[in-house]
Amino acid sequence: MKKAREKRPHGPGRFVSAEEIGPVAETFRRPLICEFCDSVVGPVRGYKNVPSLFRLLRGTVHQPGCALNPTEFIQGVAHGSHGLAHVTDRGVLRLELPEHIDAMPPFPPSDDLTGPDDPIRKRDITTVRPYLPPAITSAAKIARFLQMHGFDPDTVDRFRVRPHGQRPIAWSRFCYGPSHLSYAALYQLLRTGKASTHPIALQGTVQCITEDRNGRPYVTLVRFPS
Ligand SMILES: [Zn+2]
Repeated sequence: MKKAREKRPHGPGRFVSAEEIGPVAETFRRPLICEFCDSVVGPVRGYKNVPSLFRLLRGTVHQPGCALNPTEFIQGVAHGSHGLAHVTDRGVLRLELPEHIDAMPPFPPSDDLTGPDDPIRKRDITTVRPYLPPAITSAAKIARFLQMHGFDPDTVDRFRVRPHGQRPIAWSRFCYGPSHLSYAALYQLLRTGKASTHPIALQGTVQCITEDRNGRPYVTLVRFPS
């Protein structure tokens, strides 16, 4: 997780960012709890390509209704995906990419999917019109969920993508960003000149949309520190 809270005896303590995890003396007071529930978490210093993050203590799970509860989140996405996302026996969510990824369902999404009885979507998802295709909506929900988890490899591993007519692939082979390392990996892939056989998603914040000299639109993303 990218954030945690200090647990104080009287009311919630201050929020702690994963950037505060470092080799120097800790700037936060333990115990730390989840950003959204009272489950105890601990800091994990970054290694290799994994940035520093907070992780639940061994044997601990997010409480029911917590926006970071992966089991509830996975069930919620599968429920609202118009049949494009399935939960496997191992609790992994597999997102099926249709032949036409921008295909719209034959009926509009039900507004009750964003109703007050669903704490996950209520907190995390804003529904705007026009509606996005369900494959893209589901992918966006997952990308945002993983970002809140700080791209913890254990959590990322609970999501797969199956391009139309192909075998399932890891989430990281479908969705790139928003870290520099991930963008660099995509750049290297594209430099080989081999076109991807499946759609690729890019996660980031759009700074502006402009056109090149040939009138083709392109997007500039906001640059974040790595
Ligand atoms: Zn939680």
